[in-house]
Parts: sequence; structure tokens; C-alpha cells
Amino acid sequence: MGNYFHSVELNADMCCGCTNCLKRCPTEAIRVHGGKAKILADRCIDCGECIRICPHHAKSAVSNKIEEIEKFRYTVAIPAPALFGQFNGLDNIDYVLTGLKKIGFDHVFEVSRAAELVSEATRRLIKENRLKKPIISSACPSVVKLIKIRFPDLCDNVLPLLAPIEVAAKIARREAIERTGLDAKDIGVFFITPCPAKVTEIHSPNYAEKSEVDGAIAISKIYPDLAHAMDHLEEVESIAQSGLLGIGWATSGGEAAAMLGDKYLAADGIENVIRVLEGLEDEHIRGVDFIELNACSGGCVGGVLTVENPYVAQARIHNLRKYLPVSLNHIGDRSLEDMMWTEELTFDADIFRLDEDIIKAMEMMNRMEAICAGLPGLDCGSCGAPTCRAMAEDIVRGKTKETDCIHKLKAKIQNVYDQLKNTI
Ligand code: SF4
Ligand code: SF4
Repeated sequence: MGNYFHSVELNADMCCGCTNCLKRCPTEAIRVHGGKAKILADRCIDCGECIRICPHHAKSAVSNKIEEIEKFRYTVAIPAPALFGQFNGLDNIDYVLTGLKKIGFDHVFEVSRAAELVSEATRRLIKENRLKKPIISSACPSVVKLIKIRFPDLCDNVLPLLAPIEVAAKIARREAIERTGLDAKDIGVFFITPCPAKVTEIHSPNYAEKSEVDGAIAISKIYPDLAHAMDHLEEVESIAQSGLLGIGWATSGGEAAAMLGDKYLAADGIENVIRVLEGLEDEHIRGVDFIELNACSGGCVGGVLTVENPYVAQARIHNLRKYLPVSLNHIGDRSLEDMMWTEELTFDADIFRLDEDIIKAMEMMNRMEAICAGLPGLDCGSCGAPTCRAMAEDIVRGKTKETDCIHKLKAKIQNVYDQLKNTI
């Protein structure tokens, strides 16, 4: 089993084993045993659903601290467009960008600029007929991991282009080297992130060996200092270079609309995403060229590391876009290949393999089916596994026992009682 980095973490001291999170996890990555939840690292996609649902705040997301920028001689902040939806009455994103410089960054490069490049690259690839349709956006790392784990037949449909944060980081670093003459290693590029999935993606990317981003700082962590700095600006620099297409990526439907066609679909919220992926797998969804999927409700503005209600943030983003030109960033003579994934997206079969030995794995599978058939099929979660099938798998893997099923235990006790009764 590989080493996994995850932004989403459990604080066991705060967990009371209530099982609220168990059923919400889209990849069945949670078990509750001995009164404590546990996250199965190989199955977690860092969607943040368990953080949202836990009434005891036992789950949280780790991200970098602002102090970590001091390790570098020159730093560039690359803010997610969702950041611009966090401030009331904002009509000019230069306030936010200048604020980021005020709190310690040397330079700022908007991820929305790179989003415009990715949109143009996607349109070009569609025109050249180089992609399998319908194309599924690769921007949300939770969705990409979900496809790897639950919908491997759709791996070939995922857009093989780098997400805007990676494209932004590449360009920002290159420009910083030209501007300062420093080595690449002396330049720190930090993403200002709305969600834990992007923190994880930077540490273990889906699409390349190494990310171009040096760290990710949560919007919620940076917000108080940034808001304070924005309130005390003596001068607002003219930095912004994004059009409405790039800023639109902050909310659900923004990336799809930037395809400038009409054969697209956009879904947000992990349950809706799963419904669309099931529809695609069953070939019920047809006549669509491009599909945008966001694990968070409302899109990136709904990430668990934001501070504002996603619908309020969505409305603000719509207002901000009104005064912007369509697009200010174009591929020009940049190479399209420089924006493509360097690794193929493939099914992580190891996660589900019951044993290395195929004969033994088959035997375990048969045993698992037999155990599953003997369980009540209620998927009640009281055993600590999300479904009876997951419980059967845990039993054959030796991680739990049949009597952890409360219904089985009840039947066993009844049986013993009946036997004792008959002997008296
Ligand atoms: S929701 Fe999950 S993590 Fe939170 S207290 Fe309940 S079992 Fe523990
Ligand atoms: S972050 Fe998502 S995938 Fe990971 S354990 Fe929580 S609900 Fe499951």
C-alpha cells in the first residue's frame, strides 16, 4: 500500500463515534470502531463532506501557515478566484491583490488568468477532435480521485490538461525568475485555497510526479489579516489581469460556460456529481461535449476552507464579473503540450485487491459474497462500516468480526437463550 498524504484529518479526542460522517463519505472511506472514527487513507478523496457533517468538529483540514513563506527569498501568491467572493461590497479585485502583497507576498498572479488559458486550450483540443467525448473537467481534484476509485471506466474521458493552479504556478515562477534573476528553488509559489482537496493535490498530484506549487494556505486562515490589510490600504495597485471567463471558474457552471458552446453540463455537490457519473457510466447522458463537475455545492466558493456562505459568494462573483472584459489571457505562442498531463489517469486497483495471490483473492471474494448474503442488508451502519457489503469486506480482510453486526449478535444471543431454555 502506498504512502498517502491527506489534508483532511481526524482529531480522535473530539470524536465520540456518533457515525454521522460514516454515511456521508462518497468512497466508503470511514469506519467507526471502539467509539472512534478512522479514515482509510487509500480511499479518501479529501472532499470535506465529513468536515461539514461532523457535529463535534472532530474532522478538519490542514494547510500551510502564512509564516512558511519566509523560507523563500521571493514569494508569489496565486489566489483562487473563490477568494474574491469572500468580501462584502468588493467591486475591484485589485483591493484583494494589493492586500495580499501588504500581508507579505512579493507578487500576485491570479489563478483566474490561468483558467482562461485552460479554457482556451480545452476549446482548441475539442476543435481538433483530440479528446474522448464527453470530456469531464479535471479541475476538481476530488472529482478526479472519485473517478479513479469509483468510476474507472471514465478515466479516459477526463480532460488531460493541468488544472489552472498548476498552469498559474508555472507561469508565475517563470516570470519571477525573469524579474528577479533568482533560482527557481528560491521562489515560493503559494496557492490561496478554498478546499482541502487542492492541498492534497499539491502534495500528491494526479497528473504529474511533482506539483509546481510550494504550499497552499486556506482562505479561512488568511482572511482576518487580509481583510484588515485591505481596510488600511494607502494605495491600490493596478495588478488584476483577469476577464469574466476566468473569474467565473469560482462558481459552478463557470468553466462550462467558458467553452462558449451549448453542449455542456455542470453539476455541483458530491451527490449530484455521483448521479452524473453514474448516468455517464450507464450511457444515460448523451449529446453533451463537456461536463464540469465540482465536489462542493456551488463550486469552489462552497469549499470548506472559505469563510462566506457559498450562495452569497456566488452572487458577489456574478456582480464582479459584470464590469470585466470577456477574457484577457490568451495562449498565443505558448505550447499546448506544456499544459498537458505528464501521467495517465488510471484505476488504482490495489485499493480493492483482496490479496496479491489471485486464487486467494477469489476465495476471499467468494467468502465475502457468502458473508454479505448472511448479513441483514439494512446498511444501518451500527457495525461501524457504511454498508453490509463494506462490513463483509472488512471481515474477510480480518479487520472486524461478524458479531460486530448488532443484528447478528442479537440472533446469536437469542440462539443461546433458546438452547439454554430447552436444556432447563
Ligand atoms: S461525525 Fe464522525 S468524526 Fe464526527 S464525532 Fe461522529 S463519528 Fe466522530
Ligand atoms: S474527506 Fe470525503 S472522502 Fe475523505 S473521509 Fe471525509 S467524506 Fe470520506
